[in-house]
Amino acid sequence: MKTAFLTDPRFTEHETGPGHPERAARLTHTLDHLRAQQWFSQLIPVESQLCDERWLRSVHDRTLIERARQACSQGRAYLDSPDVAVSQASFEIALLAAGGVLALTDAVIHGKVDNGFALIRPPGHHAERDVALGFCLFNNIAITARYLQQEYGLEKIVILDWDVHHGNGTQHSFESDPSIFYISLHQYPHYPGTGAYSEIGIGDGAGTTLNCPMPAGSDDSHYEQAFREKILPAVNDYGPDAILISAGFDAHQADPLGSINLSTAFYGWMTERMLETADQHANGRLISVLEGGYALDALAASVSSHLQSLAGISLPDKRSSRNAQ
Ligand SMILES: [Zn+2]
Repeated sequence: MKTAFLTDPRFTEHETGPGHPERAARLTHTLDHLRAQQWFSQLIPVESQLCDERWLRSVHDRTLIERARQACSQGRAYLDSPDVAVSQASFEIALLAAGGVLALTDAVIHGKVDNGFALIRPPGHHAERDVALGFCLFNNIAITARYLQQEYGLEKIVILDWDVHHGNGTQHSFESDPSIFYISLHQYPHYPGTGAYSEIGIGDGAGTTLNCPMPAGSDDSHYEQAFREKILPAVNDYGPDAILISAGFDAHQADPLGSINLSTAFYGWMTERMLETADQHANGRLISVLEGGYALDALAASVSSHLQSLAGISLPDKRSSRNAQ
């Protein structure tokens, strides 16, 4: 399997201040770990690029884009709410994050690679049409879904969001739109408060939102059950043309921002299931994008597990790895 990997050293220039969990070390620590793996050199690097603002506008109001530009250029400490900390470079770095995912998307659609992962920040899934929220300026995955439809003519997109937090921004972007099926597994009740099982979409979009709220303390077995009973049947029924993953790693048992107990190896298991559905319906097209993940060692190891599965790199201990931790 040819797997693309996108990151950029400039992502560290989005500074969030001392003590903020969404910090540059998330990426640098993960990269240090990945570069020490023998298989890492097999991945195909893709270069980031700035997102054209018309793609931001496919999801966001101009007013949010202008507010973000001004908050950063004026040196303000945050955008819209205190948890969306910004620095002067943050607007441009957010464009680079969104544009990076679009560059990765180009590589997948043009067949240069089979699938890909974008190690980016700031994350995106909490960003609403007209407001930044929860460490997120612009909704990278929502922008990518619209890009696939409008630039490449794909009709049906599945977004699977396994971040421990519900992706309120992504759900709200598409809850009336049956052409984008948003599926989320998340701790519930928990930040941001949305994502009840009863939220299934609105109007024409009824049935193309699937929330799998998980109580605190849930583990691999509960997630596996949700996959087998709800998520995989729903994706197979829907038959997407591409699969996007909002890949947060904060449902890991070591993460300080959640109380879900996934193992490192389970990220590989979920990845394999989504690859199977992508192969079956979407010619293998799968694009995965970093969202959260705040325990540095767990984040690095979980990204590694995810990437190995994406690239089909089997390890000597893989068969037993699900029970190893
Ligand atoms: Zn999260």
